[in-house]
Amino acid sequence: MKSILYFVSVVFLSLPTFAQNVTYESYDKAREVLDRSITAYGGMEKLRAIENVTFRAEGDTVHRNQSRKPFTLDRTPFKASYIIDAKNTRYRQSQDGWFPGGYHWVNGFAMNKAEGVSWNVLRGSMNPIPNIPPANFRGRLRMFPQFIILNAASRASRLRFISRTTFDGRAHDVISYANEDGLEISLYIDQKSGLLSKFETLGTDPYFGDVINETIFPAYREHNGQLVPTGRVDRRGGDVINDLKYLDVVFNASLTDDDFKKPPDGIKPATPAPTNAPSSTKYADNIYTVSAAPDYNVLVVGFQDYVFVMEAPGGDATSRQAIAEIKKLFPGKPIRYLAVTHHHDDHAGGFRTYVAEGVTVIGLPGEKTFFEKVMKSSFTIDRDALTLKPQPLKWESLEGRKRVLTDGTTTVELIDIGPSPHAEEMLVAYLPNEKLVFQGDLLDRPANNDPPTINDITVHFSNWLDTSKLDVARVIAVHGPPSTRDELRQGVAEKKKSENQKVGPR
Ligand SMILES: [Zn+2]
Repeated sequence: MKSILYFVSVVFLSLPTFAQNVTYESYDKAREVLDRSITAYGGMEKLRAIENVTFRAEGDTVHRNQSRKPFTLDRTPFKASYIIDAKNTRYRQSQDGWFPGGYHWVNGFAMNKAEGVSWNVLRGSMNPIPNIPPANFRGRLRMFPQFIILNAASRASRLRFISRTTFDGRAHDVISYANEDGLEISLYIDQKSGLLSKFETLGTDPYFGDVINETIFPAYREHNGQLVPTGRVDRRGGDVINDLKYLDVVFNASLTDDDFKKPPDGIKPATPAPTNAPSSTKYADNIYTVSAAPDYNVLVVGFQDYVFVMEAPGGDATSRQAIAEIKKLFPGKPIRYLAVTHHHDDHAGGFRTYVAEGVTVIGLPGEKTFFEKVMKSSFTIDRDALTLKPQPLKWESLEGRKRVLTDGTTTVELIDIGPSPHAEEMLVAYLPNEKLVFQGDLLDRPANNDPPTINDITVHFSNWLDTSKLDVARVIAVHGPPSTRDELRQGVAEKKKSENQKVGPR
């Protein structure tokens, strides 16, 4: 008995000590790697002396799950300039990029502590952003490796050694730490140079579940006595999403508060958008849109025996919210069909939640294999509705460009308008009795009801409406308030006029 007691007490007493040693050993090993890296960047004093950094970025945006076809990665040019003021928690960016198909955007953002402002250069409008959480600024700091090393050093008790591995053909030590936001970040430190080659975080993708986010600094060069990254490559789930060069890096420029408070001259405050937007909007008996945060509208049509839903934006949480709202509008009626305007992840990322609900998906033939792949994703980190309640995919391909749902009173025509410059296959819903069309990304409008955005995609859509001969009074948008057919015509005419002026006589 005595020996058993002795054995038990030894096991119990020694367990915590043993566990603590393993933790300490891991910390100690990681500390050594981090210290070597600090030395490689010139030492702690030199790192701490970096108060701010200004640089430009140029390269490509790669449109993962945002390209014209599923499984392809369209590239568009991107350029930007950044000021990161680590010392004073101030930040400014100006960015110029595209979505495939001629959707140009030019915008900016500045923050001073928790106060921010964003602006849209093409519209000439700005919006204040109050109460920016500290995590936002910490994310900006991670664009530059020196700030990541400093952050890891300030979180010493969270440092752990993970592994030795090969990355980009070179030996690396991998250490990790949890930052102030609870974000676990793995750092790949090159064994030879001591520099940060990449960092990783683990997350959840609405389509593909468990996913690794990687930020790679492919190489360094010496510049004004500092080692600066030549660029940055971001990857998500193995796919490149940003491929950028860093240019004109300047350390410790003299900056004023004004650099972080104001957009460029000539940009005016936008009319504020309504802050208490309704959770649903009624267009006719049994025809609604439900708002899915942030800035997405879902079409909901109640037929005699069932509900039809179009668009599944965001991910699982957004779809759950939308489904709860739909059930309030049509209590007791099952959601039988789901359709999405196109395969982009922001428009159909919540598709799995509807499958768990038991719907039949009406989709375009070219999207079938893509959504079949999405069905097979593994969600072990954030278990979504389909993981908790597995269901097979019930898929109906829309053949012959059109599918009509009707109960004799209410009618919805699903029409494939593709190929659009935005996506090769593109569905819209036409409600002939109400003279309404519901569409995504073909005609966007700001939440404050400013005039709709007119780009090449919108012009294509307007032309399609003309040739289709559909009787349309209003166009409901996934993004923003509806527009009349006349507003769309007028916008297209104005765009043509301004382009003709730009070309002018030579
Ligand atoms: Zn899209």
